[in-house]
Amino acid sequence: MTSLSSQMKTLVAPSLVDFEPYDPKFTSTRINLSANENTHEMPAGTKMAVCEALSKVQLNRYPDPMANGLRKTIAEWRQCDSACICVGNGGDELLFNFLLAFGGQGRKLLNCPPSFSEYELFSKITNTEVVNVWRNLETFCIDEEAALNAASDANLVILTSPNNPTGDVVSREFVSSVCEVCPGIVMVDEAYDEFSRKELSCDDLLEKHDNLIILHTLSKAFGLAGIRCGYIIASPDIIDVFASVRQIYSVNALTQAVAAAVIANRDEYQGVCEDIKFERQRLLSAFNCMRDDGLPIEVWPSESNFLLVRVPDATFVHKRLRDEFSILVRDFSSTTGLKNCLRIAVGTQSENDELIEAIKTILSTNN
Ligand code: PMP
Repeated sequence: MTSLSSQMKTLVAPSLVDFEPYDPKFTSTRINLSANENTHEMPAGTKMAVCEALSKVQLNRYPDPMANGLRKTIAEWRQCDSACICVGNGGDELLFNFLLAFGGQGRKLLNCPPSFSEYELFSKITNTEVVNVWRNLETFCIDEEAALNAASDANLVILTSPNNPTGDVVSREFVSSVCEVCPGIVMVDEAYDEFSRKELSCDDLLEKHDNLIILHTLSKAFGLAGIRCGYIIASPDIIDVFASVRQIYSVNALTQAVAAAVIANRDEYQGVCEDIKFERQRLLSAFNCMRDDGLPIEVWPSESNFLLVRVPDATFVHKRLRDEFSILVRDFSSTTGLKNCLRIAVGTQSENDELIEAIKTILSTNN
């Protein structure tokens, strides 16, 4: 579905008439590197703990609405009070609730595109005005001066670090300055933070800024996109707001059990993240070698589990990857500022080997 029927356009709320549902552009392929998922297998010890936890879930009972057991597990891990944690049905739900609670008619969100498209989508649904401060379209750096100016008049700010789909991070100094000038609430979306250098995380800035929220998810580093579990860390006052707007049972009992078991076994994931970072570097080097050998490819460095590349006729390259090699990546060609860009998640070693060979073949014969 791409747009609403004419009858629906007369019935739906006026702000949603031009609404287009989010489309992850998913098709079934042998190798799927299109959604920034973690394609590594769940570590063996964790798998056993998950099975045991699932076997104990009482499916006839409603889940604990605020997921207090899981909140406590997260709080112990992140070394904060449980009152500073809210769990959601994926980071998505928490992003939506952020706009729902702090946005709305007459309110402004500062956004720095190109970035995660859901921010604009949820702003539209909640009737929140979006003020876009565009990144430099060569380097994807944020125009910090312009962003600070806009932040001083914003009700909400979202900074994404590492950013999806460009892979870069914001500086902690910049985040602090935004929190200082912004009269509203600032969210740093750290969905991919486990793949970047530890010293770049903004978590400890929470001590200094009571208008700051940090968003995390178990979908990426912990390979749990299917269970839908994200969480925010923020001041108890902010958490109370999230608690008051959330769908009561949005985080189901199976999710709560799996998430707690995985976090308890989190040490097993260090190797997984290290491997993804190693493979990211290997892919980056392979693409740079292709460029040095005269193939038309440009790649940006990334602190995340994906790389953004630019190739001539990216839509055709995307199609050939899918149809000839059964490899799915994400085509961003039609996104403003990302002409001919593809976003490629870092897979396992063998998936990446196949991807490298496929791209080499396509770029050598794509004329
Ligand atoms: N933030 C960013 C930047 C993302 O890319 C994503 C997922 N694609 C999310 C948040 C939400 O992730 P999830 O809902 O799976 O937790």
